[in-house]
Amino acid sequence: MFTSKEEFKEQFRKGVLDSYGRPLEESHMTEQFVVLERMTRVQTSKNWADTKKCVHDNEQKEVHYFSMEFLMGRLLTNNLMNMGYYEMVKEGLADLGINIHDLEDLERDPGLGNGGLGRLAACFLDSLASSSLPGHGNTIRYQFGLFKQKMVDGYQTEIPDQWMSLTNKWEIRKSKHMVDVKFWGRVVWDEQTGKFTHVDAECIRAVPYDIPIVGNDTFVTNTLRMWSSEVSDNIPTNKDFRQYSQEVNEICQNLYPDDSTQAGRVLRLKQQYFFVSAGVQAIVKAHLRQYPNLDNFHEKHTIQLNDTHPVLAIPELMRILVDEYDYEWLDAWSIVKQTMAYTNHTILSEALEKWPVDIMRALLPRVYMMIEEINRRFTGFVKEVADNPEEVLNHVRIIKDDQVHMAHLAIAGSYSVNGVARIHTNILINSEMKHFATLYPNKFNNKTNGITHRRWLAYSNLPLRNLLKETIGEEWIHNPDKLEDLMAFVDDPKIQEQFLDVKKQKKEELAAYIKEHNGVEVDVNSIFDIQVKRLHAYKRQLLNVMHIIYLYQEMKRNPEFRIYPRTFIFGAKAAPAYFFAKKVIKLITSVGDVVNNDPVTKDYLKVIFVENYGVTLAEMIMPAADVSEQISTAGKEASGTGNMKFMMNGAITVGTLDGANVEIHELVGDDNCAIFGLTEEQVQETYRSGTYSSWDIYHNDFRIKTVIDSLLSTEWGTSSEEFRGVFEELMNHNDQYLLLADFDSYVKAQKRVEELYKDRTKWARICLVNIAKSGYFSSDRTIGQYAKEIWHIEPVKKL
Ligand SMILES: *Cc1c(COP(=O)(O)O)cnc(C)c1O
Repeated sequence: MFTSKEEFKEQFRKGVLDSYGRPLEESHMTEQFVVLERMTRVQTSKNWADTKKCVHDNEQKEVHYFSMEFLMGRLLTNNLMNMGYYEMVKEGLADLGINIHDLEDLERDPGLGNGGLGRLAACFLDSLASSSLPGHGNTIRYQFGLFKQKMVDGYQTEIPDQWMSLTNKWEIRKSKHMVDVKFWGRVVWDEQTGKFTHVDAECIRAVPYDIPIVGNDTFVTNTLRMWSSEVSDNIPTNKDFRQYSQEVNEICQNLYPDDSTQAGRVLRLKQQYFFVSAGVQAIVKAHLRQYPNLDNFHEKHTIQLNDTHPVLAIPELMRILVDEYDYEWLDAWSIVKQTMAYTNHTILSEALEKWPVDIMRALLPRVYMMIEEINRRFTGFVKEVADNPEEVLNHVRIIKDDQVHMAHLAIAGSYSVNGVARIHTNILINSEMKHFATLYPNKFNNKTNGITHRRWLAYSNLPLRNLLKETIGEEWIHNPDKLEDLMAFVDDPKIQEQFLDVKKQKKEELAAYIKEHNGVEVDVNSIFDIQVKRLHAYKRQLLNVMHIIYLYQEMKRNPEFRIYPRTFIFGAKAAPAYFFAKKVIKLITSVGDVVNNDPVTKDYLKVIFVENYGVTLAEMIMPAADVSEQISTAGKEASGTGNMKFMMNGAITVGTLDGANVEIHELVGDDNCAIFGLTEEQVQETYRSGTYSSWDIYHNDFRIKTVIDSLLSTEWGTSSEEFRGVFEELMNHNDQYLLLADFDSYVKAQKRVEELYKDRTKWARICLVNIAKSGYFSSDRTIGQYAKEIWHIEPVKKL
């Protein structure tokens, strides 16, 4: 531990010498980085230990956030800043001739998540600790995170993400807390004990690695626990050892890079049960170290299930209570139902998780028995309370058509079910889960997502932070609602001018990155129009491309038609097996190759695809945006959080009334965002009426026809067959996501944005209003609501 710059320097020198046997002057930059990372981790130790002790001695209730994904991003800068040591360390290193930014850039960005869902989990951990609340993460320690995207000839290729190859000094292996997790085998009735036992099981050892989660300006330091699989002492006798050890390794090898469909089914189910069982076992053991029994388990622990991936926690806790601690069914069920809370993240039907009964029964025989019994009793309950039980059962059965419906199990076994934006929760209550909402009217609630304004504004946009500091001070760092004080300055010409300078500075940084990585010069005076997020049909990157194609074609055929220069920037990973998504990426890069080089358009239009989008890139991209593209088909995006990051950095949203865009629109008003497209009700009505025809629109709108026709031409420098799959989706599968229906209003919204941008005063005002109103989207607000309305947990008090 160090408390002054001089101490830091001395310990840093010693650290390098001790670790690598050479003086600082002769050490390599990577060695310096490893030492700095370790020193920063050590710096958390005292607070980490103090937090554990306080929570224990206060007998406080804790929340455990169970998630298959935590998309943490780099930790070094964040942790030094949260702890308040950043400036000291930066200056200390500078004294030693080292630029801290060089070391910061060596940290790998652990991609232990796909997108929004995993990033939400990471923002929540930051806000929990920063609000001094006792709350921990529980997940898998993946050997390889989400693949690294490498573009080859405009196509996405995937390479493994070796995130731990250099070092990971944040984690501490906690061997004393390891547990075994059982798979396969069978369940037998033991006459002697009068109990069921799981025999012939394949045991896999789960070893926790803990990472400290430091809060901002608080001693509270929580834990992210990542479980790693190892060979158990209990080696299966009926299996070849090599086979067994390969199965052990497989469990923690890969993050599933597909967040919308099921793949590698059995292995994925194994992963789920692995981290859930280990996590629940560890919490039970910790509880019993402090309390005589588990009767008060739900008073001291609550488990938040991030989507359905960790829902096996429900039957697993039942199994532990009934089999291992001899609880009667109803007593156990009462504890479980008061412990578990579930967050729903999607209403896309293909993403609602179901597991075939035969897989579940074979892999997890005792857990499956628990699910069967839960289902049997739940069915009885429905028959008792529902007016038309058969009709209701059709929609709520946990086991139906030989499949286990994880969302149904989650709702039946938890005390809270929340959606992640107001419109999303309303859809759950009024349509998707309406039968459940009738059965349990008080269980459903909304918690609109948020993002940590520390990482996404204070730490990643220093020029904007400084401008805010000079204008309204820094109270907003502790209380993000205080950003609203900026409203008093939105018409101040000096502040407007300074804001435009800040934006330009961030655009220059991104332009330099693009020059280096894409080899394209972009004009920082052009509108930076950005869509970065996972590539998915419902997010409609294709609609954005269609607009670009339209602009290009219009400029080519009409010399009078000229636009304000615009730079369209995309970043997106596609699931490796998602054919359509990969073709859209290729379309973006191909269109870019043409428009960026055409003498008629190159000064007006640039299209850039940024390779390997992830948290670290997002931290550079968000501050540089003028326009934020949030254009999903209304009703399909549960919340979105990218939209919030853009807003907080002063970009205007071009968006549909979907997810949290609805709340953004409500906060900033019509004048400060550009809303377009069908509403969710209109989308539902379009599907319901069955009258939608993409061919009709095609034949009635010359612009659309010309854009679509280009997909089957060589206009984009490819074979005319290259984009047939994209064409088919729109025309012969009747445009499931209604791009053609929204095209005209999207073009108009974009035209409006162009007009606004030309008036620099008006534009700066819009951006400042967006920043001022963005405090609502801090995850500190979201976590405050979870803590008060769901978890009933209190800040950790120092003893
Ligand atoms: C915020 C974030 C997301 C979520 O973006 P959406 O636009 O809400 O889908 C995905 N990936 C990364 C790296 C992010 O930081």
